Amino acid sequence: MSVRVGIPRGMYFYKFYPFAKRFLMELGAEVVPSPPTNKEILNLGSRFCIDDACLPVKVYHGHAEYLKDKVDYMLIPRLTSIVPREYICPKFGGLPEMVKYSINGLPKLIDVEINMYKSRISLINSLYELGTVFTKNPYKIKKAADKAAREQIIYDNCLLKGELPCKYIDGTDVSKNNSGPLVGIATHPYLLYDSFINMNLLDKLSDRGIKFILPEMLEKKTIEEKCRIFEKRMFWSSSKDLIGSALYMFENNNIDGILMLTSFGCGIDSLSIELIQRLGRKKYNKPFMVMTLDEHTGDANFNTRLEAFFDLIDRRQAN
Ligand code: SF4
Repeated sequence: MSVRVGIPRGMYFYKFYPFAKRFLMELGAEVVPSPPTNKEILNLGSRFCIDDACLPVKVYHGHAEYLKDKVDYMLIPRLTSIVPREYICPKFGGLPEMVKYSINGLPKLIDVEINMYKSRISLINSLYELGTVFTKNPYKIKKAADKAAREQIIYDNCLLKGELPCKYIDGTDVSKNNSGPLVGIATHPYLLYDSFINMNLLDKLSDRGIKFILPEMLEKKTIEEKCRIFEKRMFWSSSKDLIGSALYMFENNNIDGILMLTSFGCGIDSLSIELIQRLGRKKYNKPFMVMTLDEHTGDANFNTRLEAFFDLIDRRQAN
């Protein structure tokens, strides 16, 4: 019987799941992702995670708690840097420890560190370390990594072309042939693609006939180029993606308005969003709204703000 490896559906799940799944499957493991976030998972996260963590970290704890009795191992990599000369939010690095000390009865954790700050080559060592949990054969690990890399390229290309991760991963899709205004949504993937915590935002936009453009639909070089307006090179990957995408959306005349999603308790966004808002007010004249997500699941408030944003766009278009 194959070893079952659980992957919590949170944080960078929608960024790297195809790679992780293919890599582990090629090494003979059965991959078990947790289901899309629901009320039970959110409640588990709130119960087992420390109070002052940000919403995505809490949700991640809920997924880990949900999975813990169903698998032999759980994959919670320690992500320190995923792009050379850049770091990501430190919460990613502390995730294995946070989960370990908050949840009892976990299966064995695979918490290999991914740190590409100095070079991409270090990823090979990390994958080798991960692969040795399942095989001592380095050729098998290399082959698995090559196949996983190909799978990830296909996935990233699908997102670039406008497909949603849920279509590739779960075979479901919300996008329709909309013909209404085009809205840019600048946010992190764990807020954007978790339809429970973002109150079904993409469905709501689609139902109104609104088209959307997302950060994953932008080339990396576009984001890099937009961030060159700053004197200093940005070294936080998550902020860079957010700010670069927002600037692109401000400058693109086909985009009618910009929505930003942030989560309660996010220190990094508090700075990035302030910066984007100041730039937006000073240089661009476009409908722009920041929506903060928290543990509340009633969507009345959220819907009211969304309607106000739609009104803003409609009025701007009518004028
Ligand atoms: S960037 Fe913000 S929301 Fe994301 S993990 Fe870090 S603190 Fe949490």
